[in-house]
Amino acid sequence: MNLTSDNIAPAHEAVLEALAAANRGPARPYGHDDVNARVEAMLSEIFETEVAAFLVTTGTAANALSLAQMVPPWGAAIGHAEAHVMHDECGAPEFFTNGAKMVGAPGLDGRLTPASLSALLARDFWTPPTHVAPAALTLSQATEAGTVYRPGEIAALTEIARDKGLRVHMDGARFANAVVSTRAAPADLTWKAGVEALSFGFTKNGAMAAEAIVLFAPDLIKNLAERRKRGGHTWSKGRFVAAQIEALLADGLWLDLAKTANARAAELALGLQARELRLAFPVEANEVFVWLPAALHEALKAKGAAYYVWSSDSTAPERRGGKDEVIARLIASFATTSKEIASFLSAIDAVRAPGKKASRSPGTPLF
Ligand SMILES: *Cc1c(COP(=O)(O)O)cnc(C)c1O
Repeated sequence: MNLTSDNIAPAHEAVLEALAAANRGPARPYGHDDVNARVEAMLSEIFETEVAAFLVTTGTAANALSLAQMVPPWGAAIGHAEAHVMHDECGAPEFFTNGAKMVGAPGLDGRLTPASLSALLARDFWTPPTHVAPAALTLSQATEAGTVYRPGEIAALTEIARDKGLRVHMDGARFANAVVSTRAAPADLTWKAGVEALSFGFTKNGAMAAEAIVLFAPDLIKNLAERRKRGGHTWSKGRFVAAQIEALLADGLWLDLAKTANARAAELALGLQARELRLAFPVEANEVFVWLPAALHEALKAKGAAYYVWSSDSTAPERRGGKDEVIARLIASFATTSKEIASFLSAIDAVRAPGKKASRSPGTPLF
């Protein structure tokens, strides 16, 4: 019963096989190999446009390098106040941009809204040289709250950004889950909606360590090769990073894996709701945030259930918890089984009514 993160999952078999295949014989170094070229071509096909891809091995590097291509040291990147780039990257975006400012805007359910973005940009503290100037908008897809942006929502935000001269980055650590959830074309969720650079995550979706910086705006390519090398993310045996991504993109495996993860999260969410537990955010991808009474939380921990306790200012009023309740963050991956979800739910039943067997209706699917 380990629902702490999607990165506790193993690497997918196909990824390990691809690594073994890439290990047969020599290949040109530093990303000048055939696998890298094939991955770039596959990404261009998936996004229905010519893209440039720079592969790295962590999402933090993908985000920080992308933002550094967009934001000068005296600039600001705007994102959701609770975004990964704001809190969970140990200052890497600030470090890679040589000290730009990360500025958070509020928004319910982890999503920025046109109103919150416009309000922040309309503030009077953006006049250089006294103040930093906003230079980029960064959106997380899926968000830290496990919600997703629809193409129209992305376009509305990027239009505001573009009007103010901001570049647009998307943190797609869980982009696959968002594609599956929205059923939108990858192109509609990115460049067609105004996104100029995407950190396309693979690690949480079956890779061992592989992420792609996908550039839709050709001018953002300039000096990224140098910046990535300087940042220590240019693998000399780059084929091994590329091979992981190729394995996941082939035959839509990345979508199949994300579908499984999302389906497991939906099963879990339905089971929790059937047990009258309140979700803190709508469940739209592979993450479930649920309010647990503190006593239930302690009892589940004692039974060996593993998950993180979350805190957020982003829950909607009707989804706020009560006193003595904590938010449990439960994440499903491609490797999570229905059996594991069922044992987590049974553990709740066992705590609440020891010795009794629960019979609950499964409810209707969420998506
Ligand atoms: C996991 C994650 C990342 C990448 O994290 P790394 O540990 O650096 O690979 C980036 N953004 C979000 C939203 C994430 O969940």
